[in-house]
Amino acid sequence: MSEPRVLHTVTPVWHSLPISRIAGRPVHLKMEALQPVGSFKIRGIGHLCQNAVAGGARHFVSSSGGNAGVAAAYAGRELGVRTTVFVFHGVPDTARQRMEEYGAEVVMAGPSWQEAHEAASLVAERDGAFYVHPFDHPDIWAGHSTLVDEVVAQGLQPKLVVVAVGGGGLLTGLMQGLDRHGLEKTRILTVETHGTESFFAARAAGHLVRLPRINSVAKTLGAAQVATEAFELAKQHDVESLVVTDEQALAACRQFALDHRILVEPAAGAALAAAYGQLGAVARAEDVLVIVCGGVGIALKDDIFAYTPRDPD
Ligand SMILES: *Cc1c(COP(=O)(O)O)cnc(C)c1O
Repeated sequence: MSEPRVLHTVTPVWHSLPISRIAGRPVHLKMEALQPVGSFKIRGIGHLCQNAVAGGARHFVSSSGGNAGVAAAYAGRELGVRTTVFVFHGVPDTARQRMEEYGAEVVMAGPSWQEAHEAASLVAERDGAFYVHPFDHPDIWAGHSTLVDEVVAQGLQPKLVVVAVGGGGLLTGLMQGLDRHGLEKTRILTVETHGTESFFAARAAGHLVRLPRINSVAKTLGAAQVATEAFELAKQHDVESLVVTDEQALAACRQFALDHRILVEPAAGAALAAAYGQLGAVARAEDVLVIVCGGVGIALKDDIFAYTPRDPD
């Protein structure tokens, strides 16, 4: 049997001179924004969907704040599988359009990811479709962990890795990848925005926490509760958790666009903000790798150069 085709691409690691200069130490970037779907999500979701097809799946149903749905739609198209994505209010038009371009059916389901997740799970159950969870599945973590294989093959063994956390799929894949390469001592700085800080809150409480509400421009970080696996595995790693403001995340998106001429979502901006601002463990690190998670939920017309914060609702 031939190996199935891989849906993600090997992304470059850049040594960022502009960010290194500002951060006062070498800063490398794992450029997941350069994946064909604009984010790392295709690593895990591509892997999950491929295994599902091998197991006979003929319809994917996904729920998403944007990039997971885009990745599912892309995987569905590449694998010839019908795909339905449940989105919610606030999911950027750019992300919805991208899903439709890839041929997915997009269904609006409620005010937040939780409602979209519940609606999608019900429909998948009813129709005998395969539910593509955006972050909580071992195949997703295994897929995301390939990012570490690449970094190691690219000759880098960073002292500190900075990663944004939504539901914790990326973080889990990162930790699994580090473990596989004997790099479990590598420090990890997780970053969330105020209003999406479900991982930070769980770490502070010592148990999983469900945020009463999500309120941040970083839509793709808006999981009210992180995956159990992320929380548990983090106990075996050297993890520091940080929360930044929407303004810090957006300022980092702007600066990154100026420095590297690439637009990324506030989710990626949150991680970059830690490097630009020498926040948390960055201030003590010899060298830093930032996972530039990317994201399609951003457009020039969003005018991140003139952002004014919303009133809290
Ligand atoms: C999904 C996503 C995240 C968060 O990943 P989790 O696996 O949910 O923690 C961060 N950035 C971007 C761009 C994403 O799409």
